[in-house]
Amino acid sequence: MTDSPTSTGTDFIRTAVREDLASGRFTRVSTRFPPEPNGYLHIGHAKAISVDFGIAADFGGTCNLRFDDTNPVKEEQEYVDNIMADIRWLGYDWDDRLFFASDYFEQLYQYAVTLIQKGKAFVCDLTADEMRAYRGTLTEPGKNSPYRDRSVEENLDLFTRMRAGEFPDGTRTLRAKIDMAAGNINMRDPVMYRIIHATHHRTGDTWCIYPMYDFAHGQSDSIEGITHSLCSLEYEDHRPLYDWYVREIGIYAPRQIEFARLILSYTVLSKRKLLRLVKDGLVTGWDDPRMPTLSAFRRRGVPAAAIRNFAALIGVAKNNSLIDVALLEHAIRNELNRVAERRMAVLKPLRVVIENYPEGQVEHLTAVNNPEDAGAGTREVPFSKVLYIERDDFREVPPPKYFRLTPGREVRLRYAYFIKCVDVVKDASGEVIELRCTYDPATRGGDAPDGRKVKATIHWVSAQHAVPAEVRNYDRLFKSERPDDADDFMTELNPDSLEVLAQAYVEPALASAQPGTPIQFERNGYYCADLDSTPGKLVFNRTITLKDSWAKIESKG
Ligand code: ATP
Ligand code: MG
Repeated sequence: MTDSPTSTGTDFIRTAVREDLASGRFTRVSTRFPPEPNGYLHIGHAKAISVDFGIAADFGGTCNLRFDDTNPVKEEQEYVDNIMADIRWLGYDWDDRLFFASDYFEQLYQYAVTLIQKGKAFVCDLTADEMRAYRGTLTEPGKNSPYRDRSVEENLDLFTRMRAGEFPDGTRTLRAKIDMAAGNINMRDPVMYRIIHATHHRTGDTWCIYPMYDFAHGQSDSIEGITHSLCSLEYEDHRPLYDWYVREIGIYAPRQIEFARLILSYTVLSKRKLLRLVKDGLVTGWDDPRMPTLSAFRRRGVPAAAIRNFAALIGVAKNNSLIDVALLEHAIRNELNRVAERRMAVLKPLRVVIENYPEGQVEHLTAVNNPEDAGAGTREVPFSKVLYIERDDFREVPPPKYFRLTPGREVRLRYAYFIKCVDVVKDASGEVIELRCTYDPATRGGDAPDGRKVKATIHWVSAQHAVPAEVRNYDRLFKSERPDDADDFMTELNPDSLEVLAQAYVEPALASAQPGTPIQFERNGYYCADLDSTPGKLVFNRTITLKDSWAKIESKG
């Protein structure tokens, strides 16, 4: 954490925080990140995390991690564990400030009792359907529940018996008594507690009544002494309710400030929808590399710094807007270009025999690990008589402007020699299965002493030394820019989001590639070893292609 209570950030939240400190409304800054453990964190959460932790750090304050775990039916310990791992991976730390709304269940219950005693809450026997009918609409006021005027004594008795487990699920609720004619529907006698006979991942069977998120969230902030409760825009209409609860209960009031939700093109970010993709088997899990979750980005080889940089690039705005996923991809490439070591891998191999290269000879040629980072050094790459090159780097009949290998033409093998194709071997169906080439021993290292030039440099691996690998090329999971706009987002899935290349060959240095360590396969893209990779079966994920469409958009300006 930095210690600079004089943050120079000029976004509207930092401006507001600075004003609150100047006016004395608050004398310190305390924020929190409040996930519900009902799914994995996604890139939208990363934005919220960078706002919550970032602003606290800017003002020398603290940021809590609090799980808003009020719904035992949808929440699991697995989600809690993964959320913590993801936040740490992203580079943020809550130190010893880990909290759970479920730790406040007794306190929240007492707050509810306080409201009943003040005549501000009542036990209601309407069913869910009836309650909906009584609620009214945006244009019509609602109607008072027939149970609204129960006495304080009756309400206390019923609420106690709700807690004691006397009533089945759905038969009764505790509701706030506010105003059924309020323009803001959240204020129309909202439910505070419902009966759910379900085991909670932390409190077990201690409770069979659970607070609604809206009854837990603001009071949890209050209990923790949060100064600035930062949340996304959809909670703006809930703010009057949160304020009402803390005012009526008579406890400390934090200040809530809302910011724009991240909406990303070609992506869905609703946990409900992501869960459906997982449950319906359209992806292999929450960490399928095509998912927009942080665990998927990690598995795919995206550095945490790229996500942090992206969050900084988009900043915080007051209004929702669609962010181009190309901007995220740009941030990923920028980071990878700096940190990823280069290696050679042939994804769609074509066999090449160098006719004039001595049988059995092996040379070790020097290759640069990262031209962007001299400190990354060099490595030795074995070269021999039989090689693989990319099938796409040869055309028997070259189209216009095709400068790579073709019969009779000379090209450079990266870090090695000039070679020339002298013959083409085909199978019975006419498919090219091997090229016969010659090399010029005088061009070792890749330059001709007589100064002659070639128009293309292609990558290769030595057949005898190469390691077979499976390569998984991922593309965007959705084919349309705004999948959320479709009647059913599932119809917008990109059928070509995964291409498996089962017979790739990689240079021997990649045999020990570690999952999560980014690598650039020269000319092919950025990759990393997958979690599924073993020494016996190497598997690589494509993190991202090399082509940066965002840089192009920007330069056209
Ligand atoms: P989802 O709609 O994906 O289920 P959620 O808001 O229900 O998300 P929570 O676990 O409640 O998920 O979110 C924790 C915090 O992350 C909240 O404060 C919420 O404002 C924030 N958040 C969630 N999604 C986004 C997003 N797309 N952009 C910015 N912040 C987000
Ligand atoms: Mg939520």
